[in-house]
Amino acid sequence: MLFGSGCAETGAPGPPLGRDSGARPAALAPGTHFPPVSEARIVGGISTRVKRGSPAFRRLVRGATPSIVFKDEEATGADLLMTPRLRTRLHELARLVTREWPGVRLRVTEAWDEDSEHGENSIHYEGRAVDVTTSDRDRRKLGRLAGLAIQAGFDWVSHERDHVHASVR
Ligand SMILES: [Zn+2]
Repeated sequence: MLFGSGCAETGAPGPPLGRDSGARPAALAPGTHFPPVSEARIVGGISTRVKRGSPAFRRLVRGATPSIVFKDEEATGADLLMTPRLRTRLHELARLVTREWPGVRLRVTEAWDEDSEHGENSIHYEGRAVDVTTSDRDRRKLGRLAGLAIQAGFDWVSHERDHVHASVR
């Protein structure tokens, strides 16, 4: 992913497509996020970019599990690393995906980013955000995938048109 993809840096709030129980939307329209306030306000801004070998780096965990496909674009394993809270939500989302679409798996394209490929204050630099699609890369599933991410307990979820960005506190 290239810098300037707009990943979670902007995104106007908009009405959700549908609702399940309470106020949680069952799906998100492209270009919208939930809850409809800024990501930083919900999950907190980053305090520092996590570097290899730092104490914060040693607190990251590997998110690999057979139910998730990792793109590992940089082939460094960085995209398998995340905070424990993020991993808990991610594994729940993987479970919801296989239940929703039998034969389809959750696909992670980015998690922790050590190459500064995202915007200035991206939550990816602390390993608190993931970019996901489904393993069949069917964009028509992204709206519902965003809804499942909300259901899985991610604190802030955005439908970025070609992927879903989800982050935690
Ligand atoms: Zn992202």
